[in-house]
Amino acid sequence: MSVTDTLGRPMRDLRVSVTDRCNFRCVYCMPKEVFGQDYAFLARDRLLSFEEIARLARVFVALGAEKIRLTGGEPLVRRDVEQLVAMLSRIEGLSDLTLTTNGALLAQKAQALKDAGLRRITVSLDSLDDAIFKAMNDADFPVAGVLAGIEAAERAGLTPIKLNMVVKRGMNEGSILEMARFFRGTGHILRFVEFMDVGHTNGWRMDDVVPAVEIVRAISSVFPLEPAQPNYRGEVARRYRYRDGAGEIGVIASVTQPFCGDCTRARLSADGRLFGCLFATQGRDLRDLMRAGATDEEIAAAIRRVWSVRDDRYSEVRSSETVGLPKVEMSYIGG
Ligand code: SAM
Ligand code: SF4
Ligand code: SF4
Repeated sequence: MSVTDTLGRPMRDLRVSVTDRCNFRCVYCMPKEVFGQDYAFLARDRLLSFEEIARLARVFVALGAEKIRLTGGEPLVRRDVEQLVAMLSRIEGLSDLTLTTNGALLAQKAQALKDAGLRRITVSLDSLDDAIFKAMNDADFPVAGVLAGIEAAERAGLTPIKLNMVVKRGMNEGSILEMARFFRGTGHILRFVEFMDVGHTNGWRMDDVVPAVEIVRAISSVFPLEPAQPNYRGEVARRYRYRDGAGEIGVIASVTQPFCGDCTRARLSADGRLFGCLFATQGRDLRDLMRAGATDEEIAAAIRRVWSVRDDRYSEVRSSETVGLPKVEMSYIGG
């Protein structure tokens, strides 16, 4: 039943955006000038219900998806999201169920998520310096709040915890070493993410990207690193091990070392559109299909049609022309 695209890539992972809303306004994702007071977020009746997400997820799993990641927007602002986790965790054939969060609500939610069947968690954190972190999240949220969330996730056993740090030139590259030092030896895996040109509101410029090689070199000059083998084909983070045994880091070099050839990710937006690429401009509406009474077989056929003609490899062909295209926002499509 599995399906491959025009470049021979199977559909292995499903990323589900459960809301386009967020309690942060990260400058590289939802800048306040665009996502302000009068920004029109999706109305409630346009969002997929938990039942609808679970139904679609079962169809995706039947088509070969093995992993599901909940994201957004901020998934923990969707009320009772742990009920969705519980529904998804009962799907047979799923080998991984995880979630990416900014951590702000994690201290209060970690145990409930674990109890509902979440396996692991990824927490985003861009600096340990309050002034820098607040300048990046633009919501006056302190570092201590995220650290409390990480500790709660550790206590709940949502481990190993991955930490995503988006590096933006001129904002937080000075935090790279401090972050590496802080998380070495904790068992958590810190991953440095190159600032990407997702959406069309974040004012992306190549000059703002700190290349992964520069990040690895900076850390390795203080804490020597060596490359480690990927855990599986299609792993987007390149792994490096501390030579002294204090664990590992990862770099997600989507700009300077694109990995489209191994990209096995399908994305479902909060209103039920299927996208084959983070940088796509259009998605296939599965919500209306479902609400019009389609059977699981008809939904599967629609997904198969989308995936079988998929030829996206945006990061490999990124150019001055593609950067300006009217892409959908990451908070909508799901990071
Ligand atoms: N709100 C959650 C969070 O921040 O973890 C989940 C959604 S967020 C869109 C998913 C991931 O995308 C986060 O780790 C975030 O830092 C990253 N991200 C957002 N905008 C980005 C950009 N322009 N370049 C690189 N990563 C970005
Ligand atoms: Fe919100 Fe995550 Fe985007 Fe930051 S990166 S604005 S926390 S969705
Ligand atoms: Fe996958 Fe598109 Fe990113 Fe390439 S640019 S890795 S195809 S999401």
